[in-house]
Parts: sequence; structure tokens; C-alpha cells
Amino acid sequence: PSLPIGNAGANSQRKRCIAVLTSGGDAQGMNPFVRAVVRTALFKGCQPFAIFEGYKGLVRGGPEYIKALNWEDVDGWNAQGGTNIGTARCKEFKERAGRLAGALHLIEAGIDALIVCGGDGSLTGADLFRAEWPSLVDELLNSGKITAEQATTYQHLTICGAVGSIDNDMADTDSTIGAYSALDRICEAVDYVEATAKSHSRAFVIEVMGRHCGWLALMSGICTSADSIFIPEEAVDPKTWRDDMCKVVTKHRERGKRTTIVIVAEGALDSDLTPVTSEDVHKTLVDRLGLDTRITVLGHVQRGGSAVAFDRILATLQGVESVNAVLESTPSTPSPIITVSENQIQRKSLVESVKSTKSIAAAIKEKEFSRVLQLRNSEFVEHYENYLAINAADHYAPQLPKKDRLKIAIVNVGAPAGGINSAVYSMTAFCLSQGHKPYAIYNGWSGLTRHESVRTLTWKNVLGWESSGGSELGTDRDIPSSTDIGMIAYYFEKYQFDGLIIVGGFEGFVSLYELERVRDVYPAFRIPMVLIPATLSNNVPGTEYSLGSDTALNSLIKYCDVIEQSASSTKDRAFIVDCQGGNSGYLATCTHIAVGAHASYVPEEGITLDQLKQDITNIAEAFDYSDGREGQLILKTTNASKAFSATALADVMTAEAEGKFSVKSAFPGHIQQGGKPSPIDRTRATRFTIRAVKFIEEKQTVSCTARDSVTEVNYNPLDKANTSTAVVLGVKNAKVVFSPIKSVYEKETDVKKRIPKVIHWTPLRSIADHLSGRKKVHS
Ligand code: ATP
Repeated sequence: PSLPIGNAGANSQRKRCIAVLTSGGDAQGMNPFVRAVVRTALFKGCQPFAIFEGYKGLVRGGPEYIKALNWEDVDGWNAQGGTNIGTARCKEFKERAGRLAGALHLIEAGIDALIVCGGDGSLTGADLFRAEWPSLVDELLNSGKITAEQATTYQHLTICGAVGSIDNDMADTDSTIGAYSALDRICEAVDYVEATAKSHSRAFVIEVMGRHCGWLALMSGICTSADSIFIPEEAVDPKTWRDDMCKVVTKHRERGKRTTIVIVAEGALDSDLTPVTSEDVHKTLVDRLGLDTRITVLGHVQRGGSAVAFDRILATLQGVESVNAVLESTPSTPSPIITVSENQIQRKSLVESVKSTKSIAAAIKEKEFSRVLQLRNSEFVEHYENYLAINAADHYAPQLPKKDRLKIAIVNVGAPAGGINSAVYSMTAFCLSQGHKPYAIYNGWSGLTRHESVRTLTWKNVLGWESSGGSELGTDRDIPSSTDIGMIAYYFEKYQFDGLIIVGGFEGFVSLYELERVRDVYPAFRIPMVLIPATLSNNVPGTEYSLGSDTALNSLIKYCDVIEQSASSTKDRAFIVDCQGGNSGYLATCTHIAVGAHASYVPEEGITLDQLKQDITNIAEAFDYSDGREGQLILKTTNASKAFSATALADVMTAEAEGKFSVKSAFPGHIQQGGKPSPIDRTRATRFTIRAVKFIEEKQTVSCTARDSVTEVNYNPLDKANTSTAVVLGVKNAKVVFSPIKSVYEKETDVKKRIPKVIHWTPLRSIADHLSGRKKVHS
């Protein structure tokens, strides 16, 4: 096969041999991780090895367990669940003798760098191995098992860790590889159960994994608006938890909810360290409330199936970064662990992260519960507080004093995107818990101007919206200037809105800009206004992430996995999949990485004839060397070329391939908008919406103080020139930020193309290409 040529670094005298192993419990995403390590190592001129069966393979050694891998060995791995190189728990590696055997086997194979993907136990073992390495080498030399030359050559071991674990229990990273896939399995199961629960008005107790970490229980609780959750981080009072749970469940039932969902993490405890079990919760619901209650233990289903888009991409980027970290490491560099913060891949100290993680389990054991939540990252705490506010709060006893209660409106603008209903649910439930009055504007700006479609929202109105797809409020693409901006102002004035949340894509972005621009004419718009970007194209300036883009990606990868299966059943057949995205190639690029496609054509690069010719040669070569498991997919954003539709492109490629292969086109169309929103879109919608309400509260508190001293009717104290009160809520550089719409629109936006001037995901292009072995023609 013709492999891409890279280099192993200017200082390397010999080919670096880098091994990868997976260890501990298996997690979806381990295969894309290994694939990325293997292909990046080859791309950089190194020789990758896989150590099969985790540390067991290292201790046993030999060609059965330690194998050099080639480019095509990892073909098609992205769509496969579990870990193809095996994993195990290995007692021998916990003993020095086991690690000594492991050191000998690495040296014999010529390996001096080890990348470990596993949980905190596996990474503790890896760190210990590195710390002991010099003494292990000495012992092997002294016992005559290795030569002096080998001892010199292999005097340093480079270690790099990545966290593969469905529990998301590692400190210092927002997410571990596999966690969002397991969450996806849980949410799918609860969504199914919900339907039967509703029919019979039943209660369900769902037990999920998480011995020391309640992340899965917490996040699935948010995603499914569970009535109650039990997690190890928040030990409940043994005397009161049953009463507390029954109170919430009863209130929800009184308000019209026909179902009850309680999610219990397997490690849930009370403050005496007595487990809170599913059976206990079941008995309480039956005995005290007389509910027809069932227990569903999800068990290993949570580890099952292939990874969701987020995990495939996270694992791939972390695999690439692991190899980079190995090649940049010096003997004095502390072992790194690859982490993610918001959407940025980072390196942190492996020792420190493992130490912080272990301190959580220790704090639980020591009953220092107030420390436990603090030790989790700040995002976990934020999610937990949000869960309590929107699902466990007593909405009839609002938090805020009357004078601070606001009227807040929400509107959907643009095409539907996964998570926009979750945003409305969270906004409503959070507003009610605070004492604010939530208003919905139905059917976008035209609904408001033509039909005065404004209603207050109640908790019952939005029941079930957390997990529903489409737009329950109704949406359209009209912007204020295309309807009647004066009428919009009139209704804002009439309902005395104190704040506005727009959930939408580029039309939402333009809407906010237009409302902000006319504040001097219409005082009604001098209120805090926040745009929560929501569009599958992920093209809204001011953020690196839009609601709905994750749901769309998942729909697209499911579609592509099916197409790929069909393609591999037919000899030498490739498919061009036409993707949405307007002038943004984000969806096509991320799908390219997630499914291991051969290439993607995006509007940012266009399609040149030279590149097309090169791609035809590349695909022909790929069909020559692989048995057809990978390389049959090509993604094309519809707008990547004016001249070539997907069908025309398929025809040209088929003709030019001269019988070596044929290409068909495939159109997923509106499938990309997704059905139910993905867990990522649901939980982010909740987080962003609550942040938006808090932003409005904060800006209004300042102005309310001013209002108290003024008596004029309709006085709106927000300064009309204060642009910091009309903002885009976005994720940027690993932080959630509020950016004034005026500057984002005027300085950061290519208005004609409807995309940001600086494309944050550009670096993904070269990663997508190098992992496909695609040769690029540089113009
Ligand atoms: P999971 O989160 O899925 O449980 P994990 O990596 O924490 O994954 P463990 O069973 O704790 O799972 O560890 C996996 C393997 O790592 C162990 O079987 C052992 O081989 C090695 N290991 C764990 N702890 C140590 C240690 N303290 N010293 C040496 N090796 C260890």
C-alpha cells in the first residue's frame, strides 16, 4: 500500500516504536483511539504496535500479544464497539515481577513508548511503570536478560495516557472516551421505557453504572427530566431521603405527570455509607405512594454498540494528540494525560489527574461529602445544580423575592435543530423555580407579528420537551426586518418583556443584530437579549458549537455506517454522501473523521480538478490494498461546488476510474435534522439556557436598582448604547462566553457567506485527511 510519508522528528536516529494498549473496562471509542494512534504513528514515520489484552499481554509478551500493526489493519474500526485489541484486568501487573516481565517484552520488541487507554487504575499502573522503569532496566541488565547496549538504548520509557471509561470519573477532563456513548444508550433506554410508563402511569427505577461517579446518572437525569436521581457524590440523609423523593414525585404527579423515573447510580450511598439500592427505591415508591413500579437494570447494554459521533471524534483527536505528546516528550517531561475542556484537547499531568481522581473515592470513604462535589470539575457541579433547579425544585415556592422576578420570552428562529425543545423546557422550569414568568413566542417573528402568538408557559405545557425533536414552539426563517419590526416592538412593550432568549441559527443571529440596532428607536428592545446558537450547520459566529450539530452528526454517522456496510458488500463500490451545512463544511469534516471516510469536499476548499484526479487515484489504491472495509465513503457538503452535484461527481469519478471502481451518490436530506436530540444537545441546551436566564437576571439586577429611583412609565433603564446586553452565548477557547452581537456581527462575520471569518475547526481538515491516507494537491 502507498502509505502517507511523515517524519518521526528531527532528532530521531532510529524509527520510534510506539505501542498502544487498552485496559480496564471496555468503552465505546477505544477502537477509533487505536486507529488514530496507529495511523498517526505511521504518518509520522514511526512503527506502531498493539499490545493485545491490556497489561496481561504486556506481562505474557511474545508475538501472540505484541504485534506490529499496519495502515489497513485498523480499517473500518471507527464504527466498531468495544476494543478490537482486547482488554483485561491483570493482577500480575500490580506486582513488580509482572512489570519486570512487561519491561523485558517491550525492550525485546524495540518499544520505548507506551500509550495506555483505560481508567484511573490502568493509568496508575502506567505511571508506576514509568517511575520504576530505570530500576527495571537495571535489574534486567544485572540478571543478564538484556545487553548493555539495550539498557542504554531503552533507558527511558515514554508514557502517555488517555481516559477510556464509560463512567466519566477522571478529574481534569470534561469527558472520558465512551462516556457519551454510554449516556446515549441510557437515554435511548429511558426514552423507550417512558412510553410504556406513560401508557400504564407507571414508575420506573433505572439502575445505571457508576461505582464511584454519578455522572451517568446525573446527565441521564437531565436528559430525561427524571423525577429523582441518586449519585455517590451527594450522599443522602438516611432518615429523610425516602420522604424527600416521595414529596417530589407526588408534586410532579399532582401537576399532571403520568410517569415517574428515578435513576440510581450503582454506587449511590447515604451518608452512613449504606448503599441506596434500586430495590430500596422501588419498595419506597410501592409502599408509600402505591405506584405500579418496575426496576430496569441496564447493565452491560451501556457498554454496547458503536461509539457516538462525539466519542469517535474525541478518541480520534486524543489518539493523534497522544502520538504528538510521545514524540515531543523528553526524559524530564512528566507523563501526560490527554484531556478535553469544553471542546479543546489538552495535555495535563497524569500523576496529578490520577491523584485528584483517587481523592474523590477517598473523600467518600471518609464521609467528607462537602468536598466530594468540589473535587469533581466545575461543569459537573453546574449540571447538578441545574438538575436540582429544573427537576427537583418546588416551582410553587420560587427562589427570588418578588421585586427581582422577570418576564422572559423565548423564541425559535430558523430551521429546527436538536435541543431547541430541551432549551424551552429548561428555560420554563428554571424560570418557574426562580419566580420569573416564562413567555413563549410561537412560530417565530411572523407568528408574533401576524397572530400575536404569545403565551405564558407552565411546567405542564413543556412536559416531555427535554427529549423531543423538532420545534414544539414552531419556527420559521423570517427575520425581524422581513416581518414588521415595529409590531415586534409593540408586542414587547405590551407584554413588558424584561429579557429575550432567541434559540436559532444564522437567522437568529441576524435577528438579534437587527433588534439591537434599533434600540434607539424602540426602547422595548433595551432589555438583555441572548442568542443560543442552534443549527446543524454550526456556522454561527461567536461560538464553536451550536445546539443541533451533535444530533445531526449522529444521524449522519448512522446513515453513513449503513451505507458503508452496503458498499462493502459490493466489490469496488464507493458512495458520495451529500451533506447539509450551507457554506459550512463542519458537518462533512466531522463526519469524515467519525466514519473514517476517504475524503470530504467542503465549501471552504471547493473542488479542484487536480484534487479530484488525485482522489480517484487514492481510492483506486485503497481498493487495491484493503479488502474493501474502509475508503468507500466520500462526504460532500452540497455547496462545496456549484459545478458538481453529488450525482455529477459520482458519474465523473466512475468514468475516470476506468472500471477500477464505481461511485454512487446518496442523499440523507432531512434525516440530518435528527429525531430525538442527542444527550449532548439536551444537556448543553439545559446548561446554556440556564446561563442565559442568569445573564438576563444579572443585567436586569443592575438596571432594576436604577428603575427603583425613577417613576416614569415604561422607563427602560438599560442604556441604549450598551451593546454588552445583546449577546451571543458561545463556547470559545474552552470557555462559555457571552459576546456582544454588534462586534461579532460587524467584525467576525462573513455576512454574505453566512459563516465566521475565522473557521475554528480548520485544523480538523488535515487530521481528517491524514487519517484517511488522502494525498492533498496544494494549489
Ligand atoms: P475502569 O474504570 O473501567 O474500572 P480501570 O483502568 O480503572 O478501568 P482497573 O481494574 O482499576 O480498571 O485497572 C485495570 C488494570 O490496570 C489492572 O487490572 C491492573 O493490571 C492495572 N492496575 C490498576 N491499578 C494498578 C496499580 N496500582 N499498579 C499497577 N497496575 C495497576
